Amino acid sequence: MRVSRLVYRSFLQGSKLLSGRSTQFTSPLASYSRNVPGEKDFNPIKRTGNILKNDLIRLKNEVIGIFHPGSENQQTKDIDEPHKYYSWQHNCDVLIVGGGVIGSSIAFFLLENFPGAMNVTVIEKDPTYTKCATTLSCGGLRQQFSLPENILMSQFGAKFLRELPRRCGIEGMDPPDVQFHPQGYLFLATESGAEQLTLNHDVQMDLGVKNVLLTKEQLQKRFPWLNTEDIELGCLGLENEGWFDPWTLLNALRSKAIALGAHYVQGEGVGFEFTEMPDVIISGDDSGLPYNRVNKLVVRLETGEERKVTFSNCVIACGPSSGHIAELANVGSGPGMLAFPLPVEPRKRYVFNVHCPKGPGIDLPFVIDPTGTYVRREGYGGNYICGRSPHEGEPEPSTANFDVDHDFFDQCVWPHLAHRIPAMQELKVKSSWAGHYDYNTFDQNAILGPHPYHHNLYFATGFSGHGLQQAPAVGQAIMEMMVEGQLTTMDLSRFTFDRILVGHKVLESNIV
Ligand SMILES: Cc1cc2nc3c(=O)[nH]c(=O)nc-3n(C[C@H](O)[C@H](O)[C@H](O)COP(=O)(O)OP(=O)(O)OC[C@H]3O[C@@H](n4cnc5c(N)ncnc54)[C@H](O)[C@@H]3O)c2cc1C
Repeated sequence: MRVSRLVYRSFLQGSKLLSGRSTQFTSPLASYSRNVPGEKDFNPIKRTGNILKNDLIRLKNEVIGIFHPGSENQQTKDIDEPHKYYSWQHNCDVLIVGGGVIGSSIAFFLLENFPGAMNVTVIEKDPTYTKCATTLSCGGLRQQFSLPENILMSQFGAKFLRELPRRCGIEGMDPPDVQFHPQGYLFLATESGAEQLTLNHDVQMDLGVKNVLLTKEQLQKRFPWLNTEDIELGCLGLENEGWFDPWTLLNALRSKAIALGAHYVQGEGVGFEFTEMPDVIISGDDSGLPYNRVNKLVVRLETGEERKVTFSNCVIACGPSSGHIAELANVGSGPGMLAFPLPVEPRKRYVFNVHCPKGPGIDLPFVIDPTGTYVRREGYGGNYICGRSPHEGEPEPSTANFDVDHDFFDQCVWPHLAHRIPAMQELKVKSSWAGHYDYNTFDQNAILGPHPYHHNLYFATGFSGHGLQQAPAVGQAIMEMMVEGQLTTMDLSRFTFDRILVGHKVLESNIV
């Protein structure tokens, strides 16, 4: 099978290239009514009337804003009442399915860069965000990856976090504070892993990461509480590593995106619809079947009612559910390029919060043991969070629920912790939670950009445990691919879906 040429078309270009005429593309300058009452308004005259009406309302609000700066408008209402997502959109330029940190970052970057130029609508099924990966994550940011792409994305993330108060600040509200705890990661390696750790360090140094390799003796001296008997080498981060509050980042991106005009709609994407376009030929598609352009999402509202939203471009940013949502667009069940599923599924991961009065305290970096067991400080009162992913061959816990298996701590986490940090032989599990990784079963890395057949269907998913810190970079990259037609800030071209078609894995050695 031939793989289509890797071109990121802007949506203006895209619609012209594909059909030779303007189809579903909505001019960036066109504005759609936020509260169009029903399907009947697809009548062109009524729709034009609605657009004009909407422009007048917006003009009125702007004029009122000039003379009465404190007056309430729809945007501040949305921010103050985040659960009231009722501004239904019939049409949009960019539809984002999933309003977690990734979807919200994409909305923010699109609108920060092109304010007022396009209708960005985000469909989010659960605005309480209690079960999404973002809010259940450990909030870690690190530069210690083996792939240049992952390092670049985390560097971008670290810089963005510094700029967050300015870039996501909203007039009249406190600037967002993600409560960043600067503390390096300490990756440890046994004899067999030392070479890989050194190679990773070299890649990191080439990209300007500040960290240091420590021998067994140096580790013993620097961290006297660490058991180094089976350790050969460690790598300690000196800058741009630590952890922060995931909810604050999500909320900051979402609130600012709303302030910039994004429409957040509460509802669940349950199906896609297509328009047959026999005059369009897709490079690499040898199925011989007419091209079916995906252009509508069926959304089930809280009330059970189903509505359709027409889009020019759609981004699947559904975290662990992304593979399932892609299936609804026939990704994985169609002919030719559509035969390959989006390899993203939920994988349950436990996080245990332990109290250990004799633990290393503030001296503890974010330790990653060679067994994959991790531990970091949580506050200053002798509390820590820890966990680990199942090893190859170990059973994956069921993702049917968010229950925690406490035996997993006793059998799979604690023995490694107690071995590495003997003071942790005495500890008490205070609480625990489970979250679902958006796990890429193909190569555990991000899948970013358009599908080679559905050129207007983008993926931003598959982060497998490191998506929170990559969210700003993803927002930037999707914005560049979609609107500017090329990646200019970071070369993430190896992370496109095309690698799945050709079976080329891009493997990261530092998956936690
Ligand atoms: C236990 C744990 C620890 C982690 N630790 C870290 C870490 O230390 N550092 C790090 O960088 N990353 C970490 N991660 C990974 C990180 O949290 C995720 O990669 C990232 O949050 C993914 O963001 P997302 O927006 O894609 O997904 P989510 O946060 O899951 O958001 C997806 C959203 O899509 C919505 N949705 C799903 N289906 C639909 C639908 N059909 N219609 C409408 N909406 C839908 C969901 O309701 C959800 O709000 C961790 C993850 C877990 C689970």
